[in-house]
Amino acid sequence: MDAFHYRGNSLLVEDVALATIAERFGTPTYVYSRHAIVDAFAEFRRAASGRNVLVCYALKANSNLAVIDLLAREGAGFDIVSGGELARVLAAGGDPSRVVFSGVGKSAAEMRVALEAGVRCFNVESESELLRLDGVAGAIGRRAPVSLRVNPDVDAGTHPYISTGLRENKFGIAHDAALAAYRTAARLPNVDVQGIDCHIGSQITAIDPFLAALDKLLELVDALHAEGIALKHLDLGGGLGIRYADEQPPSREALFAAIFERIDRHPRGASYELVFEFGRSIVGNAGVLLTRVEYLKRNAERGFAIVDAAMNDLMRPALYDAYHGVLPVQPRDERSAQSWDVVGPVCESGDWLARGRRLALAEGDLLAIASAGAYGMAMASNYNTRPRAAEVIVDGGDVHLVREREPVESLFALERRLPR
Ligand SMILES: *Cc1c(COP(=O)(O)O)cnc(C)c1O
Repeated sequence: MDAFHYRGNSLLVEDVALATIAERFGTPTYVYSRHAIVDAFAEFRRAASGRNVLVCYALKANSNLAVIDLLAREGAGFDIVSGGELARVLAAGGDPSRVVFSGVGKSAAEMRVALEAGVRCFNVESESELLRLDGVAGAIGRRAPVSLRVNPDVDAGTHPYISTGLRENKFGIAHDAALAAYRTAARLPNVDVQGIDCHIGSQITAIDPFLAALDKLLELVDALHAEGIALKHLDLGGGLGIRYADEQPPSREALFAAIFERIDRHPRGASYELVFEFGRSIVGNAGVLLTRVEYLKRNAERGFAIVDAAMNDLMRPALYDAYHGVLPVQPRDERSAQSWDVVGPVCESGDWLARGRRLALAEGDLLAIASAGAYGMAMASNYNTRPRAAEVIVDGGDVHLVREREPVESLFALERRLPR
């Protein structure tokens, strides 16, 4: 969160006071730092220099066109999970030949569009999907580049909802079924086997689960090699964690160094291109959700700071019990601090953003909900007919509006009343 810092009694993003942004654009507003996004990606790029590596940005973390555009300019590839995300990459000027298409339920229509666009690889998650992809590719006279997503049965040590590499999860092809699936793939006429991939979860704060997954992939790579199925790339997915509270995730550099060390010990390791799909660790700490305190109220049990952002804007607390720091934009004297639950106006008890925080607050104060750059706006909804927040990107002293606040009428513009 280095891009967000206090100067005097004012919280800034880069060189701009968040109070100024609230005045200009209103609240709630997502505020991102251009430099924080670019620096996070550049750290991966630096760590990979001299290596055959493609770092993709998993755009489900934050799919604003401006974010995609920024990362495309920095040389990122993209990991997509829907036809809609492909449309975003194309609209933002991203290169489809650097796109990997993940996801457990690709429709035939999505496959067709992705084949026509010329995506780099389909990360296939079942034999049924392989067969469907072969059919769709054949029908339009193409060969589909594929990698099979293997479920390595590795515990990522993260929240159950964002753990994806365990036997009980819906993702990937079981490790012990993968060989058979590759044999199927190898005999299909319209698919071209290129790689292997896994993605074991999100917000992973240790290196070991990545290495355990890599070892499982390499075992399979060797078994495939012995059968004459040669792969070109290994895709290790994403999932590197960030600091929300007191987590100590490995640095991007340390993670890559450990992975490269393991690769270099493998007899054919150097021959494989490595692909990664990072979302959270590129944008998570590059954004805050700026919100204003509407009311303070206290009952016998607790104090509530009711703010103008809610679970529809930032779903992570309600969904995962997630922790987000709360930063006062213009801090008051600490001596008046009390314990507050920061909650939204939505009619659900699950509508909270933070609980039991010691804050010195008054009605009208601005708060920044920290580490909200990933899985914030991307998961926002219109529940309670609440327009989604505006989004801005700060670049030094400049502020760019990259998504307007939704007009209320747009929320029901596609709806129709019944005939009389
Ligand atoms: C969500 C997802 C990612 C990105 O995960 P992060 O934790 O944001 O890095 C990468 N690959 C796949 C297949 C995903 O589903």
